[in-house]
Amino acid sequence: MKVSVIGTGYVGLVTGSTLADLGNQVVCLDILEEKISMLNSGKSPIYEPGLDELIKKGLKNKNLIGSTEIEQNIRNTDITFICVGTPSDKNGNIDLSYIKSASSTIGRALRDKSEKHTVIVKSTVIPLTTEEVVMPNILKKSGWKRENLGIGMNPEFLREGSAIHDAQNPDRIVIGFADDVARKTLKELYDPYKCTKLECSPRTAELIKYASNSFLATKISFVNEIANMSNIWGIDFQEVAEGMGLDSRISAEFLRAGAGFGGSCFPKDVKALAAAAKNSKVESLILKATLEVNDIQPKIIVKMAEERLGVIKGKKIAVLGLAFKPETDDVRESRSEIVISELIEKGANVVAHDPEGMPNFKKLIDVKMTPTPELATEKADCVVIMTEWDIYKNLDLESLLKRMNGNVLIDGRRTLNAKEADKVGFDYKTIGLG
Ligand code: NAD
Repeated sequence: MKVSVIGTGYVGLVTGSTLADLGNQVVCLDILEEKISMLNSGKSPIYEPGLDELIKKGLKNKNLIGSTEIEQNIRNTDITFICVGTPSDKNGNIDLSYIKSASSTIGRALRDKSEKHTVIVKSTVIPLTTEEVVMPNILKKSGWKRENLGIGMNPEFLREGSAIHDAQNPDRIVIGFADDVARKTLKELYDPYKCTKLECSPRTAELIKYASNSFLATKISFVNEIANMSNIWGIDFQEVAEGMGLDSRISAEFLRAGAGFGGSCFPKDVKALAAAAKNSKVESLILKATLEVNDIQPKIIVKMAEERLGVIKGKKIAVLGLAFKPETDDVRESRSEIVISELIEKGANVVAHDPEGMPNFKKLIDVKMTPTPELATEKADCVVIMTEWDIYKNLDLESLLKRMNGNVLIDGRRTLNAKEADKVGFDYKTIGLG
């Protein structure tokens, strides 16, 4: 099938390159020239394990190409995926400006096309967006009759860091369709995947995505709240989580306590769902609490450092981990941003390190960074681990302590073995361990 993908970011690149790998003819489209030229030179514009290889393979067998000639390439394909960003505005509402501009572009492109065309929204959008914003906009700009157009919503469930694996081995595909054109096209495109395929309306598909992300975010905040109680009562939350996870109704997944959730999805999606519900006169108390707990967690990390150091002012603090999770360069809504801002505000001399996230983080805060964790921790009074990269899990604790000025080690992700850290002589503190 001939596929066009609008938006060559995390979702668009992974969608495009995996569909190309299935033998489809895919063109990835973006307004940003530099992303497209990187893609066409065989290099991924983002860090995602396995993506470079898949892009090179797609370019070599001519199933994948990037372009900024958006309208012409949409016209030459059978199906267009919308994968543009849907950030939050300052009140937490979803900002649909990229969605509106992408659907206008599709509408203009279709003006000169006579064959049927399917448009699928893959971006995360608030219920009714596909039917009440995207579809009318395309029809208006194209002048098309409704029956020629396929309209659907197919939410993306990939996790950054394992996105290629997730896209190639989905455990479910949600096919939201407004008509038979979209249903048939999506069923044919996803035929090679033998997982459960749930067929529903676009608005149901839209809510499935928000409900799933909000549930997972709520699970994290719930766990963090219980872990904060464990801290007070001298209980190791890891043991509590192990016990909880033995109940198959709870599941052992997503029971890790820590500095809270970040990334480009959970924070903005919880905010957008809560705001959309409020606009429709349904106040979500649970989502509000989920966000509130998540705001508290990074502050607890700073407080732990402050309690141990006495004063933060003038102390050298090494923050290890800037990406919101390991195996990605994505620093959007990273908890490190909050921790580092607070530490700087309190007068700390912060030095940071991350294996992949430093260039992106530099655009958020101009903090001092070093090419290795060893350099960052040299003569540090305190080390704070904020992302559980393997490079930090495998730190040699004895040489770390020797390099440092002090012995305070705050582990925001329970990356290290607490007993080992204690034995080496660290003043080790983590969330959920009394
Ligand atoms: P991103 O910011 O990485 O990429 C979006 C891309 O769209 C950018 O390259 C931008 O230049 C491009 N773009 C914007 N407007 C355009 C237009 N009119 N024409 C062409 N290109 C345009 O975003 P992302 O992380 O890939 O997320 C995309 C959507 O997928 C969001 O709705 C997000 O919530 C959702 N999602 C993201 C993830 C994830 O892990 N990143 C997972 C599931 C769902």
